[in-house]
Amino acid sequence: MELRFEAYRPRRLVNVHRRVDPWFWDRYSAFPYIGCRSGCTFCYLRGSRYARFIDPDRFDTHIRVKLGAPELLKKELSRLEPDVIHAGDWQQPAESRYRLSRKMLEVVLELGFPLLIIERSPLLTRDLDLLVEIRRRSWVFVLISISSLDPALKRAFEPKSPGLSRRLALMEALAEKGIPVGLALMPVFPYLSDDPASLAALIRAARDHGASVVLAGTLTMDGPQAVRTLEALRQYRPDLEERWRDLYRWHGARPAYAPPRGYAARLGRQVWEIAEREGLKDRLPRYVPPGPKARNRKLAEYLHLKAYRLDLEEAPGFRAQAYHRAAWTLDDLERDVAAIHREKGEAGLMALPGFGPAIAAEAARWLKAHRWAPPTQSSQVSPRPAKKASSP
Ligand code: SF4
Repeated sequence: MELRFEAYRPRRLVNVHRRVDPWFWDRYSAFPYIGCRSGCTFCYLRGSRYARFIDPDRFDTHIRVKLGAPELLKKELSRLEPDVIHAGDWQQPAESRYRLSRKMLEVVLELGFPLLIIERSPLLTRDLDLLVEIRRRSWVFVLISISSLDPALKRAFEPKSPGLSRRLALMEALAEKGIPVGLALMPVFPYLSDDPASLAALIRAARDHGASVVLAGTLTMDGPQAVRTLEALRQYRPDLEERWRDLYRWHGARPAYAPPRGYAARLGRQVWEIAEREGLKDRLPRYVPPGPKARNRKLAEYLHLKAYRLDLEEAPGFRAQAYHRAAWTLDDLERDVAAIHREKGEAGLMALPGFGPAIAAEAARWLKAHRWAPPTQSSQVSPRPAKKASSP
């Protein structure tokens, strides 16, 4: 089908998240296009939650272009407290013509906001100069999405996206410029790319191309996106259809959105183990802007990490939720949590919403152990130098 761009002028651009995301730590997001030329079968943009805005059958051929996105970004960010923004979109030919992502980076640099990018497209190398400047001024982290090193698997589920070796080369180019880079190992395909050998090969390749972090996520299933993804599986490996249907409890009209907790926990433990062995982190370290709330946010990061590890242990879900709730309290807190602890001890912490005795005691231990100083820019994540390695 012919590619069509439809330009329009949106009234707003920046999404302000009520809570910081404990995987990516972004507080804001802003994208210059709707739709994506890569058209991956599993893309969340085909899901039912976007059905009101996006036609799942045409989102890869009908791209909506947000004219004036950089100007809107400048206007809206100027009113917001600096924090991590997930911004830009290099996945598609529209960027070569409109250059909106590049202009948005210029705004992010000018206003000094920290930046997160999650990409598959090598077009990002065009903007290395700006990324270097953003890193110098505040912070940047780039996650490159790759599901597997198997080109046949890529062709089956994402036939139009950039090739795997080009993505690894992008990773290396970023690392060589000193940009911290990681692997977004998402989605992991059940029974196709979730075995330890495949995971280890990909994580090693990412490490050799400069990645310092790997974040792995399971395949989700949602409305038209689920139907397409299952159809792609039928074409590629029909023998696995029944196993997928069992995993997603898909014996009636609709699948479960995600595989069972036990499956996700096993995958998370495997990735953690491999990442440790290969010298990578399996969580993205949080960037904390300098300032009076820095200590609260660093402790919140610790509590979110505890929640994640509890999920990996398959502890009852309410335990992980309790840590998340306490962490979100800290993110909203105006006072320095260390000052509260100094004045009133653990009783002061227990007065905070979501802090029971166990979490208050753990937070108190953390505060004593770390005597943690707010970060300077240089104390944040450092890039890993890329090893020279051949691409698959
Ligand atoms: S590259 Fe990303 S945004 Fe584009 S279709 Fe694939 S998953 Fe969706």
